[in-house]
Amino acid sequence: MQPLFLEPVFKERIWGGTTLKKEFGYEIPSEQTGECWAISAHPNGPSVIKNGPFAGMTLDKLWSEQPKLFGNPEEKVFPLLSKILDANMDLSVQVHPDDAYAMDHENGELGKTECWYIIDCKEDADMIFGHSALTKEEFIEQIGNGKWNELLRRVKIKSGDFFYVPSGTIHALCEGTLVLETQQSSDTTYRVYDYDRRDAEGNLRELHLEKAIHVTTVPHQDSDVTPKVEKREGVTVTTFVDSEFFTVYKWEISEKANFCFDDRYLLLSVIDGDGAMIYHGERYPLDKGAHLITPVGFGAFEIEGNCNVIVSHT
Ligand code: ZN
Repeated sequence: MQPLFLEPVFKERIWGGTTLKKEFGYEIPSEQTGECWAISAHPNGPSVIKNGPFAGMTLDKLWSEQPKLFGNPEEKVFPLLSKILDANMDLSVQVHPDDAYAMDHENGELGKTECWYIIDCKEDADMIFGHSALTKEEFIEQIGNGKWNELLRRVKIKSGDFFYVPSGTIHALCEGTLVLETQQSSDTTYRVYDYDRRDAEGNLRELHLEKAIHVTTVPHQDSDVTPKVEKREGVTVTTFVDSEFFTVYKWEISEKANFCFDDRYLLLSVIDGDGAMIYHGERYPLDKGAHLITPVGFGAFEIEGNCNVIVSHT
């Protein structure tokens, strides 16, 4: 068995930039690259296995053809999606549906609960998280009157912050933010407000107000997630969230640390520093910007070096 390293897929966005190249050395398609789909089995951009016997295979194919690697799961589709987002400009204000709504209205797609680890951001950065309406009527009225400043709640952010964004939460990343996002494997976004921006052809992007109003949680609910920090030899483990959709950790490794995971597969993304994974006598480099999966049954491994890794599992 080997760790499965993945080749990301990049997405150009009107709000994207070049930070994914500057920070991680990725070959990006243009100066407006917004998203790195790092660990993805979603049909809109599956990542490809880079090494070992499954090299060249997309993750969705691996999921269906080698179910043992994932513990013979019941789910038809790989449930998670890890991305890095370069918000060079403000993203549209948006909301995502839950599983039940997406199943009925988006051809059986999963809902989208997501979470963000702020890798880096400009000084005094903020984001939109939640709204002030107390009833649906008030929410609809404020949208109708374009009272965005009154309606949308702004929150200050700094690097190292973590936000859990359940489906139904109004949100938007704002200019100057680099984020590692862990989410359900879904590509369904309902746009509420796009700052009246026009694309290269002079067109406004489509809004999805009716669906957005339907799925938005009113009044806004702040989710109660408190990170837990545990230190042991060579590593500080911060558990950011342990939810019904995913568990997300940060491992801050210094020098050398030992791990053992057997009964679940892990998604790992190296967001800072570099090191190497030592597994059954083989050495696998963990460069900044590397993304990998350790399959079910992987067992004990060691990570050497000084690096920060965002780790998730279902
Ligand atoms: Zn979102």
